[in-house]
Amino acid sequence: MNRPSPLPVRGPREALPAISVVVPAYNEQEVLPVFHARMVPVMEAIGLPWELVFVNDGSRDATLDIMLGLQAADPRIAVVNLSRNFGKEIALTAGLDHAAGTEAVVVIDADLQDPPEVIPELVAAWRGGFDVAYAQRRVREGETWMKKATAAGFYAFMQRIGGRVQLPPNTGDFRLMSRRALDALLTLREQHRFMKGLFAWVGFPSVAVLYDRAPRAAGTTKWNYWKLWNLSLEGITSFTVGPLKIATYLGFGTAVFAALFAFQLIVRTLLFGNPVAGYPSLLAVVLFFGGVQLMTLGIIGEYLGRVFNETKGRPLYIVERHLPSGGAYRQASSAPTGVHRLAESGTSGASAA
Ligand code: UDP
Ligand code: MG
Repeated sequence: MNRPSPLPVRGPREALPAISVVVPAYNEQEVLPVFHARMVPVMEAIGLPWELVFVNDGSRDATLDIMLGLQAADPRIAVVNLSRNFGKEIALTAGLDHAAGTEAVVVIDADLQDPPEVIPELVAAWRGGFDVAYAQRRVREGETWMKKATAAGFYAFMQRIGGRVQLPPNTGDFRLMSRRALDALLTLREQHRFMKGLFAWVGFPSVAVLYDRAPRAAGTTKWNYWKLWNLSLEGITSFTVGPLKIATYLGFGTAVFAALFAFQLIVRTLLFGNPVAGYPSLLAVVLFFGGVQLMTLGIIGEYLGRVFNETKGRPLYIVERHLPSGGAYRQASSAPTGVHRLAESGTSGASAA
């Protein structure tokens, strides 16, 4: 597997952390210091060497400076700075690529909606023999009934059409994965990354750990209904060709209907003559078929667009700089030929082709 090596300046395996905690962050300047302060006692209590991998996903505020400040004070912090905003799913992948943890990795949001205090329970489940311990929300505090209802609808839909890969409901990215589950996940280099689906696809013995999801500690969510809709599209098109089949059956159904309709017209004309009625019904039928055809083309287009994006074979992300935990320092942007520098240090998320 051709994933970036995050460990060029490290010593032997013993010098590596056992657990990496990966934290994607986009404009999280208010919450990062609080987040760090809450993480430290939790991770210390676990009693294994650990690191925090902060990924700055092209934030427009002081997030990077705060990360660098925290790292200067705490050598257990690694910072991966992406060259621009790539979106949470890819930022998360960048963090996982650069996680040095030899035993396990924890994925958690920076905004403290995923309470760090659940991590020991995840670790306990992992020590109990599970490869994946995912945190499952008991209640959704601070979310509108609309959001709850749309989320419920989405999971129900995915459950029906998802086939073999079943998404656990009320589960986000907050989870612990063993090293082997992580390595398996990292072999999936697709551009359209519906992480919940990718996690589920990998499989391995998994267990849910229930927790109460808190409202954001500070800042605002970057999600809105349009983004959620697009995420759902991503989920559906990444994991099932169901809509293409629906389009086929829709076409088949309307064609049968049209044939019956035509047959009925012929019979009526033969029996009762042709009184030249039916201009409105003609228009309705034409518009209906126009709509069905456009919608079907749209569904095909959704898939074709994704095929197009995958065939380009671009790296998933570009790293501006990577500062591993332990204090070592590497800056990709310091080289004049940034691309070559990136290529030789292997920090771009090149596909496993
Ligand atoms: N995030 C990111 N890149 C983005 C958007 C979000 O890295 O483009 C991070 C964000 O900083 C947070 C996590 O992803 O740590 C979840 O984002 P958010 O809280 O906005 O989503 P929600 O909790 O509402 O699902
Ligand atoms: Mg959040």
